Amino acid sequence: MSDVTLNAPKLFDLSGQVAIVTGAGSGIGQRIAIGLAQCGADVALLDRRSDDGLATTAGHIRAAGRRSIEIAADVTNKGSLANAVARTEAELGPLSLAVNAAGIANANPAEEMEEDQYQALMDVNLKGVFLSCQAEARAMLKNGRGSIVNIASMSGVIVNRGLNQAHYNASKAGVIHLSKSFAMEWVDRGIRVNTISPGYTATPMNTRPEMIHQTKLFEEQTPMQRMASVNEMVGPAVFLLSEAASFVTGVDLLVDGGFCCW
Ligand code: NAP
Repeated sequence: MSDVTLNAPKLFDLSGQVAIVTGAGSGIGQRIAIGLAQCGADVALLDRRSDDGLATTAGHIRAAGRRSIEIAADVTNKGSLANAVARTEAELGPLSLAVNAAGIANANPAEEMEEDQYQALMDVNLKGVFLSCQAEARAMLKNGRGSIVNIASMSGVIVNRGLNQAHYNASKAGVIHLSKSFAMEWVDRGIRVNTISPGYTATPMNTRPEMIHQTKLFEEQTPMQRMASVNEMVGPAVFLLSEAASFVTGVDLLVDGGFCCW
């Protein structure tokens, strides 16, 4: 038998690590940021929101006994991301973990969609992930280690019945393949890159006006007959970021209540 001194529960311990989470002021990013702190990490919280979202996240992290900083920034701005990473390292320490959850969603029939609507979404959902990973990896490559999780979507794998969001679906398929590409570029330099593809999840994104009537359908269409809670994204993120996933890179983890099986 091989070495059994491995402390299995410790595999998920993030103590001593520094993380950055984009989209940390709301929804999935907010809950994952708090979860990382609950597992021992200090967390830089990045979001463009001007409400009290980031402060709420920071309050929960304080309650977990960890440190955080709040960074108001836009993931489409390369300079802001470089500054965010520099500030994170100056105030919290060497960056080793990142979760890129900032994203937007909207819908319109493809034949009616204006170029501006297409481009604005692509800028946030795809270019924003590219620029975030680039800024984070520059620090991680210097530090010799890192683990990145990008939040894609099952919409990058399937086409959601009844939702006219070709640009969103394409952006998420892009995030999955972009992440696999990063994973291979950095595989021999200590950095792992994976994606989580959530199914329908109860967040503010799903309470936008054109979505409210859809909630019941989302529940019916999901094999588990319900939407995910943001809490259910924490375990997958901690797993992929932690030593528990030390041989896992370039993977897309569907967290969809079985949706993509049907
Ligand atoms: P959410 O509650 O709206 O949270 C997203 C956060 O990202 C918001 O605070 C948002 O700010 C921020 N953000 C958007 N654009 C940004 C930018 N350019 N720079 C910095 N921050 C920005 O949405 P969510 O449901 O948690 O979604 C998080 C991620 O999960 C997204 O990538 C989404 O596509 C993905 N996802 C969600 C679901 C779902 O069912 N909810 C399913 C699959 C995948 P604003 O409020 O100002 O936009």
